[in-house]
Amino acid sequence: MAVGRVEPAEGQGLEISREAFETALEAFAEVVGQEWVFVEREDILTYRDAYSPFIDTASEPLPSAAIAPASVEEIQAIMRIANSLRIPLYPISCGRNLAFGGSAPNQPGCVTVDLKRMNRIIEVNAKQGYCLVEPGVSYYDLYNYLRENDIPLMLSVPDPGWGSVLGNALDKGSGYTSARYRNHFDTHCGMEVVLANGEIIRTGNGGLPGSKAWQTFKFGYGPELGGLFCQSNFGIVTKMGFWLMPRPESFFEGVIECKKADDLPAIIDTWAYLENSGIIDGFPDLSSPVFGTPGVFGTIGMATGPALSPDPAYQALVDAGAHWRDFEPYAAERGIPFWRLRVTFYGPKAIIREKWAYCQERFARAVAGAEFSDGIAQTFPIPEEVAATSDIATMFGVPMLRGLSTVARNNFMPDVPRGIIWTTLILPKDGHELIKASETLVAAAKSLGIWSGLQFITPYGNWERNLKVPVVGLTTDDPEWNAKLTDGLAEIIRIGAANGWPEFRSHPALQETLRSVYAFEGSSVPRLHDTLKAALDPVGIIAPGRYGIWPRDQWEH
Ligand code: ADP
Repeated sequence: MAVGRVEPAEGQGLEISREAFETALEAFAEVVGQEWVFVEREDILTYRDAYSPFIDTASEPLPSAAIAPASVEEIQAIMRIANSLRIPLYPISCGRNLAFGGSAPNQPGCVTVDLKRMNRIIEVNAKQGYCLVEPGVSYYDLYNYLRENDIPLMLSVPDPGWGSVLGNALDKGSGYTSARYRNHFDTHCGMEVVLANGEIIRTGNGGLPGSKAWQTFKFGYGPELGGLFCQSNFGIVTKMGFWLMPRPESFFEGVIECKKADDLPAIIDTWAYLENSGIIDGFPDLSSPVFGTPGVFGTIGMATGPALSPDPAYQALVDAGAHWRDFEPYAAERGIPFWRLRVTFYGPKAIIREKWAYCQERFARAVAGAEFSDGIAQTFPIPEEVAATSDIATMFGVPMLRGLSTVARNNFMPDVPRGIIWTTLILPKDGHELIKASETLVAAAKSLGIWSGLQFITPYGNWERNLKVPVVGLTTDDPEWNAKLTDGLAEIIRIGAANGWPEFRSHPALQETLRSVYAFEGSSVPRLHDTLKAALDPVGIIAPGRYGIWPRDQWEH
C-alpha cells in the first residue's frame, strides 16, 4: 500500500481547507510535539475501523491525521486551535470499540485525538472501593495494577480486555460480573471533561473544590451532568471514577435445564424475580442446547474447540422449515435440554449455598421437570493458570481477548470474516416478549437475506431488567454484502422500534437510523441533543455526526 498523506475531506459539515489543515498541524505539533502528530498513511491506517463495512471503499471514514496529547492542558490548547481553524477532532481512548466503529471517526477527515498516552491510574481506594483513571488506562493496565499491589478489588471487564475502562463506559459497554458493577456507565462516579471552548468541568461532586465525595457520591448539586458525555460529542473526558467490587471469597455457577419449549416464560419470570431480589447477583446466561446456541461464554469453546459435525436429523428439520417449537421431540428423543440457564453468584460459600438452594426451590416450583447441577466453582484470588486459560475469566474480573476469537477464523467460520456489526434490541425481561422478538427477527433476517442460521435468538443478560437480543452479521471484504448487511440491520432497528424494542449502541453506519426512530414529539430528544451541541460546541469540532448529533439548534425558544 502506498505511503502518503491522507487528504482532509471536504464538505463533511466542516470545510477544511488545505491551508487551515497545514496550519493546524503545525499548531498541534507545537502543543504535543512533532513526534506525536501522525500524517503518514501507514500511521493513519492504524486508526481505521478493522471491522468496517466500508473497508477500502470511498465511504470509509479515515481520519486525516492523528495527534496524541499527554495532558489536560494540551487538550485545552488543541480545542482552541481546532475552534479557530475549524478542524474536526475525534477523541478515542484506547480505540478498541470494535463492532461499534473501532477507532475510526464517524466522518472522514477528522483529526483523531488519541488519548492512549494519558494512562495514569490516579487513585485506587481499596477501602472505599473505587478508582479514578485517565482515558488511556486499559482493563489490562488496571487489572495488573490491582494484582501487583495486592489490592482486594475486582474489575468488571467487557470482551475487549485491551479496551479503555473510560472509553468502554462512555459507549455504554458492559461486563460479566455482579449486576451492581457490570453496567459500566452506571457504575461510574464522577468525571472530568474538557469542553469545546477549552473549559474544564467536573461532574457529580467534582465541582466542589477539594471534594472528598467525587468518587463516592454520584449526585452533586443541581442537574447531574455525567450523562451528557455518554455516547455524545459534547466534550473530551479526561478522568473518570468507577466503583469496584470488593474481591469476593468465591464464585459459583448453578445450571438449570428445562425440557420444554414452552417453559421459557416461567424460566424468565423466575430469573427476573431472583435477580431483582438480589439473590442471583452474577451474570445469568441463557442458552438453548437444542439449537446449539451455547450462551455468551460457550461461543468461545465452540470457536476454539473441535469442529462439530451437524446432525442430519437436525439439519432435516431445518431444511423442512420446522417451527422452533417443532424441535421439542427431536430434543426429547436425544435427552437434549431445550433451555439452559446458568446463574452465578459471588460471596462467602455458605451464603452462595443457601442462595443456590433457594433458586432451585423457586425454579422447581415454576417449571415442572427442571433439572439442576453444579457448574464451575472458583475461589479468589484467581490462580494465574485459571486467569490465563478459563473461557469465563471475565466472570472473575480477569481481562482477556478470547471472546474476540468468535469473530476470527475458527471452527464454525473457516472463512476469515472481517468482523461483526450488530443490532441489539432491548426487551423487558419477559419470555413471551422474547418469543415474539425471536420469531419476528428471525423471519425479518431471513427475508432481508442476512439470517445467520439461528432457529431461536437467545438473549444476553447484561442489563439487569432487560433481555438484550442481538442480530449479528459478519462483515467481509465484499462491499455489496456489507451494504446489504448494513441496510438489513438498519431495517432491524426500525422493526424493533415499531415493536417498542429500542437499540442502545450502534456502529456509526447505523447511528442515523437509531436517531431517526427516537421520534417521540417530533424527535424532541434528538433535537435537544443538537441544541445542546450547538450551545456547547457551536463550530462542531468534537466528533461531528457521532450518534447523528450536529450543532443545529432546532428548539423553539
Ligand atoms: P475502548 O478502547 O474501550 O473500546 P474507545 O477509546 O474506542 O474505547 O472509545 C469508544 C468511543 O467512545 C470512541 O469511539 C469515542 O467516540 C468515545 N470516546 C472515547 N474516549 C473518549 C473521551 N475520552 N472523551 C470523549 N469521547 C470518548
